[in-house]
Amino acid sequence: MKKKGILMVVSGFSGAGKGTVMKELLKRYPDSYALSVSATTRSPRTGETDGVEYFFVTTEEFEQMIAKDRLVEYAKYVDNYYGTPRTYVEEQLEAGKDVILEIEIQGALKIKEKFPEALLLFISPPSAEELRKRLVNRGTETLDVIEARLKRAREESFGIENYDYFVVNDKLSDCVEEVHAIVSCEHRRVSRNIYLVNNIREELSGFSKGE
Ligand code: 5GP
Repeated sequence: MKKKGILMVVSGFSGAGKGTVMKELLKRYPDSYALSVSATTRSPRTGETDGVEYFFVTTEEFEQMIAKDRLVEYAKYVDNYYGTPRTYVEEQLEAGKDVILEIEIQGALKIKEKFPEALLLFISPPSAEELRKRLVNRGTETLDVIEARLKRAREESFGIENYDYFVVNDKLSDCVEEVHAIVSCEHRRVSRNIYLVNNIREELSGFSKGE
């Protein structure tokens, strides 16, 4: 039996740098991970390409995807829909890749409900002040949107206890290696290795038969 990959949920306040951390993780370990590309109704930011950062769709298209059960989960976040297309996630998990869903907290909770074996990571900047600075320096949002995102961050902070791990993104490289170490440990969980346990058990039984 081939080992299935781990469904990983990675959340963090908008501006926590989780996108950069995930990109670097994929760059360092391209054979281990696959990044799910979400669908969204928000407009592309400068530099974003359809099919790379997101599949940019209309509200009607998004609602069609919901109706046809093409999304593993979806949520509304600051006035826009965001959702995870089902097919890619299922294919990559079957292929043994650890699939990263970079999603917000409502989606994370839905995933945990549907897939209790999913691994939930929360990535945080070292402080709230640092978060505000990163959002302002990114320069991609208006001050109103930054305000809304900080307000949302406060609300989200009350949901962190639902996650399995809290990782601080201070130095990018350290954060990437920490995430990779957590996932490597998860692969060694007995509950994720039952087929190996059964194999060795059967082999051992074979020995005693021959006694
Ligand atoms: P942004 O507009 O900054 O790209 O994303 C806003 C928030 O939506 C982020 O917290 C991001 O992780 C989340 N998000 C992106 N894709 C999805 C998705 O497919 N489902 C859910 N629930 N959240 C998503």
